[in-house]
Amino acid sequence: MTDTLTPVLTANWGDERAWTLPAYAEQGGYDALDVALGMAPEDVQTMVKDSGLRGRGGAGFPTGVKWGFLPPPDPENPKPRYLVVNADESEPGTCKDIPLMMASPHTLVEGVIISSYAIRAERAFIYVRGEVLHVIRRLQAAVREAYAAGHLGTNIHGSGYDLDLVVHAGAGAYICGEETALLDSLEGRRGQPRLRPPFPAVAGLYASPTVINNAESIASVPAIVKNGADWFAGMGTEKSAGVGIFSLSGHVKKPGQYEAPLGITLRKLIELAGGVREGHELKFWTPGGSSTPLFTQEHLDVTLDFEGVQAAGSMLGTRALQIFDDSVCVVRAVLRWTEFYKHESCGKCTPCREGTWWLVQVLERLEKGDGKPEDLDLLLDQCDNILGRSFCALGDGATSPITSSIQYFRDEYLAHLEQGGCPFDPATSTAWA
Ligand code: SF4
Repeated sequence: MTDTLTPVLTANWGDERAWTLPAYAEQGGYDALDVALGMAPEDVQTMVKDSGLRGRGGAGFPTGVKWGFLPPPDPENPKPRYLVVNADESEPGTCKDIPLMMASPHTLVEGVIISSYAIRAERAFIYVRGEVLHVIRRLQAAVREAYAAGHLGTNIHGSGYDLDLVVHAGAGAYICGEETALLDSLEGRRGQPRLRPPFPAVAGLYASPTVINNAESIASVPAIVKNGADWFAGMGTEKSAGVGIFSLSGHVKKPGQYEAPLGITLRKLIELAGGVREGHELKFWTPGGSSTPLFTQEHLDVTLDFEGVQAAGSMLGTRALQIFDDSVCVVRAVLRWTEFYKHESCGKCTPCREGTWWLVQVLERLEKGDGKPEDLDLLLDQCDNILGRSFCALGDGATSPITSSIQYFRDEYLAHLEQGGCPFDPATSTAWA
């Protein structure tokens, strides 16, 4: 655990037994559940809405407003209601939900119970990417502990409220982080995005009303219930309230998770992370994972809230700050990300399925020294034919690092053409690792 400005979700990460129920209970764990169960479900919803909590999975949609989209129960056509937690953290550079679930799985479990109560769901699922077996085991252990202690199951804390919680392991497809692909996968089908409408709030899991929220969003709920909506709304900025976990990776001295109010700057976060590694300078960085346009030195003071990042030309996304110093070839880094999107394209729509393959071909030949003078325009034209024409955000996201790197580092692309390949020495450039 690294320095943190506002320890809320990360408050007990320093305790190496924080993942056990006794350690969580010692810190006041499950007290918020009692508070919530003493309230009417709709009042819990209002509290979360008033807190200003916005989705921490990338889109930033207000969580309480999303809950309000569920239609009222229909006695003529009764249907179950579901809460599904999207813990399929797979965006390159994003590493916040996984450490959160490892360090303090009960924070998420308590959040699931309170949130399910607020939307009157009787069954909840946590969908975790299958590769992180250690996280799945830890969550399953926490769920078992919660059942044994009466926090889950029937008549929770004597309130008359019943909830079952299932931890589900995905099969390792990035697309299953897209909420409707996740639902298909959870239903046992191949994970591919669904056409909307209908939206999941109306016809989601098993065609029933469903709320899907990111793991960090749901884990934020117990602290909001315990401390009040004003407490949360008082942190961050006016439109991007509260705190969030920023994951810093790459060329900083102390990479890790830093919990801070939204609206902090990269300059401050790099300072907390001990600075860029010795003898080098910051070259480029991602504000919200590799699906967001790159930033450079000139963006060090952009406020990292939804509005600030957007105004500067990118997106806050998952707050995955990947830091690259001047030893890195930007073309090589972009090629690596594009190979990822090509591999993870689900194949449903042509612009993304074919387009990402072609992007890799062009970037690869530039790197190898087989580039053609028209390749930069060709790359931009390919991106233009993918962006806004793909079925889901994966296709759009694949174009972001390419268009932004050409915007800021056109000379470096041209150097690949002029020098017949990558001008960086593979022996010293870390992008080759
Ligand atoms: Fe699948 Fe890509 Fe189309 Fe999304 S954009 S539906 S991932 S092929």
